[in-house]
Amino acid sequence: MEKRTNVNTAITELINKVPTGLLIGDQWKESSTGETFDVFNPATEEKLATIASATSQDATEALDAAYKNKGWVETPARERAEILRRAYELVTERAEDFAQLMTLEMGKPLAEAHGEVKYGAEFLRWFSEETVRNYGRYVNTPEGTNRILTSRKPVGPCLLITPWNFPLAMATRKVAPAIAAGCTMILKPARLTPLTAQYFAQTMLDAGLPHGVLNVVPSASASAISAPLLADSRLRKVSFTGSTEVGKKLLEQASANVLRTSMELGGNAPFIVFDDADIDDAVNGAMGAKMRNMGQACTAANRFIVHESVAEEFTEKFAEKIRQMKVGNGMDEGVTCGPLIEKKAQEQMSEKVADAVAHGARIVVGGHAIDGAGYFFEPTVLANVPAEASVIREEIFGPIAPIMTFSDEYEAYRMANNTEYGLASYVYTKDYQRQLRAADHLEFGLVGWNAGVISNAAAPFGGVKHSGLGREGAAEGIDEYTYTQYIGVKDPYAL
Ligand code: NAD
Repeated sequence: MEKRTNVNTAITELINKVPTGLLIGDQWKESSTGETFDVFNPATEEKLATIASATSQDATEALDAAYKNKGWVETPARERAEILRRAYELVTERAEDFAQLMTLEMGKPLAEAHGEVKYGAEFLRWFSEETVRNYGRYVNTPEGTNRILTSRKPVGPCLLITPWNFPLAMATRKVAPAIAAGCTMILKPARLTPLTAQYFAQTMLDAGLPHGVLNVVPSASASAISAPLLADSRLRKVSFTGSTEVGKKLLEQASANVLRTSMELGGNAPFIVFDDADIDDAVNGAMGAKMRNMGQACTAANRFIVHESVAEEFTEKFAEKIRQMKVGNGMDEGVTCGPLIEKKAQEQMSEKVADAVAHGARIVVGGHAIDGAGYFFEPTVLANVPAEASVIREEIFGPIAPIMTFSDEYEAYRMANNTEYGLASYVYTKDYQRQLRAADHLEFGLVGWNAGVISNAAAPFGGVKHSGLGREGAAEGIDEYTYTQYIGVKDPYAL
């Protein structure tokens, strides 16, 4: 009993460290109308905190601050780099706080939350290193009449909109390159998980980021923030991570103001297992690619496309690992599968399983919502799933693994490409020539070769087709926040 009290006291102390206001210019403040919204724990359905809810007027004030501080780009690159480096160190020092906050508001198991802190912090370190490598060019024109100089300049004030599934990493993946490029910004975190972003913003200030560079406007109404900002000519860029449906709406609005856009949208990742694959290795990869974050990742394996000669072995071994998963509150020791983010998601999983079964699929393990507090769903494997089932056609975003079979290599590629999405894909085979053929044929921005988890701050992350535009991370990540300026200089020897 006493232990429980201590745990709750520790949680209260942690939540008390999180600013509850809007970060606009040089202060944390209430919303202009005094509106607030509540944040809940998806494992217990208990209220965690009450946060100020920004209005359109607050959003415009945040843009006023971002616009007023555009001169931030004149801060020497080394200084900007060092702020990012200090932020990396501070996030790392505060890893336990960040991890617990994410588990509390989003549900992922604490060990996975620690993994996200490491991954998220790496964007701060990586872009601190990239800040000082903002190279240009100096060449002669082919005719010898002019010299060409190019430089990279910040695009200007940016709107950064992040989803709930990776509350820290999706923020650092945008904020760090924007700082590196010399942009100012307005961050709008997801309504369901704003606490991590609020604490991260305070951490950036603690690392020495000048006021007004980063403004944060959590809100119960996302469009109240995005609509006025996307229409304001002072805004120059929107970077969005979230669903394809919302991304398309934002692209439409951005077109009226000719904004630079980066869109990290949904996925429908194929996970192909060839007959020569190491099946144990493929099963381990499948666990990471499918079950990390309870399947709520844009990179989550959505369709297991397995050669018919190894399908039975793969299915049995995969199902056995799934049976060993421990479902529960992510704060509890040994839990490997937390709750889904909300009730609606839990209901959708039940609908998807019922639809697959109606199409002739067989439930190998799991398949049901778990009664009681929290939005838990059993980790599930489905066999014999036909292409018409919704689990194959749509992004699942939950712990369901549907398995289909193929008999010919090129049939596997056709099945894999049979989707409007093009983010992650995975291929398991020992044949390196087949690995290369797979990369040639797969229409996806990311390909994992015998690897189920491939995200890295140093790698260019992003999709094709309806999965999005642009890349985050790597050297490409900073390009999204700069434009090239060309200066033509008369050649001193030209007549
Ligand atoms: P979502 O599109 O519902 O929300 C994402 C963000 O957009 C949130 O901050 C939300 O408040 C905001 N938003 C919602 N409606 C809006 C509107 N009309 N105008 C402006 N902003 C609006 O997505 P989600 O449910 O938070 O996240 C899940 C989705 O994100 C999945 O489709 C997943 O694949 C995708 N995702 C993609 C990546 C990637 O890098 N490609 C990474 C993580 C998640």
